[in-house]
Amino acid sequence: MKTLYTGYYTGGVMEPIRKEMWKCPSCESAFDSTREADHCLYNHVKERCINHDFGYGCSLDYINRIYGLGWTLTEKQKNITKDNCFKISYLQCCEKPAYRITHISYHGSIKVYGVGSWSGGYGSVVRLDSLEDPRPPKELFIATKSKY
Ligand SMILES: [Zn+2]
Repeated sequence: MKTLYTGYYTGGVMEPIRKEMWKCPSCESAFDSTREADHCLYNHVKERCINHDFGYGCSLDYINRIYGLGWTLTEKQKNITKDNCFKISYLQCCEKPAYRITHISYHGSIKVYGVGSWSGGYGSVVRLDSLEDPRPPKELFIATKSKY
């Protein structure tokens, strides 16, 4: 087995060096600079604000414009609020409007949750085009537990 010839090196012994890192106060991720840690914190704050506004009843159009999420919304989607429900067939194979938006991330990904089947609730991140047909709150479907 070959070893690297280090005989020419006379500069001293190996020492540990410590690198300064910066921690995001919210999620504790470590970064090389305060700028990056700041940016991480900024995104947490942005996400809280988005979900605060959405929870308060603001529409997707408002959220999109205020927070610059870059969504391309159809006319129907512009008026979507937390109260609308959606039929998302591929989740639990549910053909009823069982899902509502429960969370929006700082970069605009949308999470829904609903109880579309007797086996219980289910949440997932969905694409905007899964939310093409917002239904009024009264149509919300909640599956009841099976007796069997
Ligand atoms: Zn963070």
